Amino acid sequence: MRHLLPYLQDDQKAADYLRQVRWPDGVTCPRCGSAAVEPRERCDNGLQRFNCVPCAQRSRQQFAMFTDWTSSIFEESKLRPLEWLLVMGLWQLKLNATEIAAAADIQERTAQRCINLLDGGIYETYHLDPTRQLEHQVEADECYQSAGSKGLAREVARRERAPRQRGLQLRGRATAEMGRPPLLGLVQRRDKTDQDAPAAQVYLEVLENVRTATIKPIIAAKVKSGSQFFTDEYNIYHFTQADYDHRTVNHGAGEYARHDPDGTCVHCNTMEGLWSSLRNFLDRFKGISQRFLHLRVARYEFLHNYGHLHWPQTFEATLRSLFSTTGDYLRRMAHQHRRMPLTLCYR
Ligand SMILES: [Zn+2]
Repeated sequence: MRHLLPYLQDDQKAADYLRQVRWPDGVTCPRCGSAAVEPRERCDNGLQRFNCVPCAQRSRQQFAMFTDWTSSIFEESKLRPLEWLLVMGLWQLKLNATEIAAAADIQERTAQRCINLLDGGIYETYHLDPTRQLEHQVEADECYQSAGSKGLAREVARRERAPRQRGLQLRGRATAEMGRPPLLGLVQRRDKTDQDAPAAQVYLEVLENVRTATIKPIIAAKVKSGSQFFTDEYNIYHFTQADYDHRTVNHGAGEYARHDPDGTCVHCNTMEGLWSSLRNFLDRFKGISQRFLHLRVARYEFLHNYGHLHWPQTFEATLRSLFSTTGDYLRRMAHQHRRMPLTLCYR
């Protein structure tokens, strides 16, 4: 976080940094997009005010003001720019609300709201980004996460993985309704021949159940057809034969990896490794509720996929992602007691 230190001196410096990331090519009006804006006096918390000339003319007012944070997820926050920078740095270290509250010297409830905003912003812009697709060699697997089903935080048993020797019925049975929502994991193996290749890119989705009807549209949307597709022998994946070079590893028969005659390594070990790392991350959020599980998973997904970058680059990528959302997803989510159905995202 050292690169943040110059901006953590005072609110004005922090606001200037945030503005630079939001508008690298110069400030434009968040309402009309015009660059004909003039800076006015700052707010008490250091944010810069601007007047949009075209907007003012159109509304026949003397001024049409906006600030560095207008129409962003930070707009209604009472935290100062400096505090936000600090919270975001701690967020990137994968801390939970209690830890962030202690480190940033803010109330725990405030920290909780902050991480919901940050995770939610990443979910809306990064996780739901329809252009993000996996290709070449993709592994798929599913696991189960214990989470409160009522949308209220409560202590729940630590998550445990479905038994290794998973009978089909056993695996098919756990659902979100039962408090153990399944997660679908898709991962594009890292290209080991390319030194500069990014980290193995992962796509993680919290599901209601693991029926073919549930996962089929997700896989179709996220994995480019023609890719090699590796799964275990679980029959929910059989439909993928049509669009992918689908190869299965037979866990039931004790097989975990094999070399096919064409030299292809058939296994799901990349995804298996990711599950244990995700589990470690989610364990930090004791008593995680189903209502927020997908947001925490989205943070893990984002930070994992940017893991090959240096810390400041990831920080700026986070900020750019957050500034490209309006917080619309979170506003809609606030009116729902449970996680919003996936059908809203895959149509
Ligand atoms: Zn305007």
